[in-house]
Amino acid sequence: MLTSTLIPSLSTLHPLKEMTFPSVSTDTRTLEKGALYVPLVANRNGHHFVKQAIENQATAALWNQHEPVPDDLPTNFQLFFVEDTLKALQKMASNYRDVVNPVVIAITGSNGKTTTKDLVESVLSLGAITYKTQGNFNNHIGMPLTILAMPCDCQYLILEMGMSGFREIELLSTIAKPNQAIVTNIGESHMEQLGSREGIAKAKMEIVSGLTAGGSVFIDGDEELLKPYWNESTKAIGFKQDNVLQIEQVKMLQEGYTFVFHHHQYSIPLLGKHNVKNAAICIALAQELGFDTEQIQTGLSAVQITGMRLEKTTGPFGELVINDAYNASPTSMKAAIETVKEMPTFEKKIVVLGDLYELGEKEEELHRSIAAAITPPITTVIWVGDFVHWMHDEWSKHYATSSTAAFYFKTKEEAVKTIRSYVDDQTVILFKASRGMKLEELINAYQQEG
Ligand code: ATP
Ligand code: MG
Repeated sequence: MLTSTLIPSLSTLHPLKEMTFPSVSTDTRTLEKGALYVPLVANRNGHHFVKQAIENQATAALWNQHEPVPDDLPTNFQLFFVEDTLKALQKMASNYRDVVNPVVIAITGSNGKTTTKDLVESVLSLGAITYKTQGNFNNHIGMPLTILAMPCDCQYLILEMGMSGFREIELLSTIAKPNQAIVTNIGESHMEQLGSREGIAKAKMEIVSGLTAGGSVFIDGDEELLKPYWNESTKAIGFKQDNVLQIEQVKMLQEGYTFVFHHHQYSIPLLGKHNVKNAAICIALAQELGFDTEQIQTGLSAVQITGMRLEKTTGPFGELVINDAYNASPTSMKAAIETVKEMPTFEKKIVVLGDLYELGEKEEELHRSIAAAITPPITTVIWVGDFVHWMHDEWSKHYATSSTAAFYFKTKEEAVKTIRSYVDDQTVILFKASRGMKLEELINAYQQEG
């Protein structure tokens, strides 16, 4: 519950009236009764939508002091004048964070933020009140809204922090004042704004800007570019031997992994070796917060990962479906194919691969680079889309063998029949493409068609 005293008001313009709000919203369409409406000025000016906010039963709004005020607003609708509604939103979030005062855990990284957030929440929510970023509300607007949405008795607040340029994570960290922080990995996205992978590492490490005294940063210890940041408050976690906390004896199971970390064996019900590292980071953090091995294992076993990230389900033919259609990059597509190759006990291993978007000038080369991963024990490869014809071409020229059947379709509709004719209860089938391909539609289509 947010009170009006947390609003950085220009009280000289308008005397502060004590009010409480069940929620805060920047969007009149999703606003709850009694909410505080925060009009933002972006492509559209939220101030122009205040009437809709009132219709949807907002009780008050922040108001940029330079914006004209409509003269026919209901008298019981309160406006709080501020210099800048976005900055006021951020300040309010920061104030609310201090009032509730939970242990704040901030998570950034190029990949694995949402997954690690889900793992951490699964452990910390055992016996404590937790709140985490919903969906991808991880930027300078979404993160403050997340903070403001936490319950007033929240004990652990788990925040995902995203960025596309320098000083963005710095801002988020200064608002959230994390007690502990995590940098999952350094990838290749946003290279244009950040110049190099070194730049990406630097931008992610801005997460320490708001870290409270005594807090630690748990980082990907296998990433060379993070080595310059190793110090007494960083905990480097990874597979390589020089890590302060090393992950050992990794074994793949039918649908997950076991590994040894900090003298104890753990298991996770997740595919993808990167998830072993995400889990190890979660374990180290939970240990720091005083959780014991048994509690941590219980939390890891119960984890529900946000959908379409190597998500496992059983299909209508008894096949194991791996839905990794959330998104894809060349690296993550190769990794997903390798995951399927390593899985024990399936007679048929099918990969359904779609286009990768936003790869810039190198898109042809990068699509072609994935072809080398498609080798036995992959028994069938099905390409769907436009750009994957490059992968198909490369594979046909250099990697085709009689052990792998291959099909290329331009549309999802065309692929349905072939998929249905190949899957049975001895099959594992992977779906992976960029978000824009909406490959989950193909999963639904092949599973429904009779
Ligand atoms: P976004 O920036 O879209 O919010 P995210 O950082 O939240 O992404 P997730 O949604 O957790 O990332 O994972 C997306 C994909 O990234 C996974 O399906 C997997 O392919 C890959 N991934 C997850 N964790 C890691 C990791 N530690 N290292 C490398 N790749 C990873
Ligand atoms: Mg995410």
